[in-house]
Amino acid sequence: MPKEKPELSDAMRKKMSGKSPEKNPIKGTKFTIAISSAKGGVGKSTFATNLALALKRINCKVGLLDADIYGPSIPKMFSISDKPKSDGQKLIPITKYDIQCMSIGFLTDQQTPMIWRGPMVTSAIKTFTQKVDWKDLDFIIVDMPPGTGDTQLTFSQEIKMDGAIIVSTPQEVALLDVKRGIKMFDKLGVKILGLVDNMSYFIGDDGKKYEIFGKDGVKKTAEEFNKEFLGEIPINPEVGKSGDEGKPIVEANPNHEISKIYLELANKIKSSYFEN
Ligand code: ADP
Repeated sequence: MPKEKPELSDAMRKKMSGKSPEKNPIKGTKFTIAISSAKGGVGKSTFATNLALALKRINCKVGLLDADIYGPSIPKMFSISDKPKSDGQKLIPITKYDIQCMSIGFLTDQQTPMIWRGPMVTSAIKTFTQKVDWKDLDFIIVDMPPGTGDTQLTFSQEIKMDGAIIVSTPQEVALLDVKRGIKMFDKLGVKILGLVDNMSYFIGDDGKKYEIFGKDGVKKTAEEFNKEFLGEIPINPEVGKSGDEGKPIVEANPNHEISKIYLELANKIKSSYFEN
């Protein structure tokens, strides 16, 4: 029997020290911000694309990573049908509206459903964060899938995330899930930048304000969990139309009242990471 104990490898020592392993930043960007929602259909991708475009308008260099492996939206919302090229080592993101974009939807047929198991999703996320040639970015905006599944876990455990924004509509069923989302990010140690109330109200032709999904639900949830409330975005048919046409509202009409809300939010986010 050998007398001397074998040396532990660095990796094993780290594991046994009980400290969590170092998280890798996405190379090529300064900050990574996740856009999350607890439920589908609340406007998360609409928010992610418009926020990315608003940050670009205030002179940030921005990337958009569509991490929704099962339901990618960026190809449609940015009207991209090209396939990304590879330099042999890394995938080159597709640049549209001056935003560097990557989505599983660029690599697969749009109508083919992704019937992938968890480990495959994890491996796709690793490719998108480590094997894409993101260049000189200030921010990568990550459009997360809804819920609290494998993608969120992979990101939170392995990637250095600098903040998360949770988007919701104000009705009770959505809010229940928002609470779960808040707890998940808190548990995983990801800073929540704040909550956004999307589709909060509608102004009719009669000029009246209709609070279709209820009033102040998201704001109250933010207060309950001691998180910042980042603001309300009303329902506006122009938002849906421009998204469907592949040119989100901030790009199609930067002077629109909704675009102004996004620009204000972008300024707020920029100033929390950069000194002006
Ligand atoms: P998610 O990513 O949460 O599934 P989407 O961003 O795809 O949601 O939005 C769902 C639908 O709601 C889309 O048709 C989108 O155009 C529409 N939508 C999102 N936000 C607004 C808004 N503020 N006003 C009007 N329509 C909106």
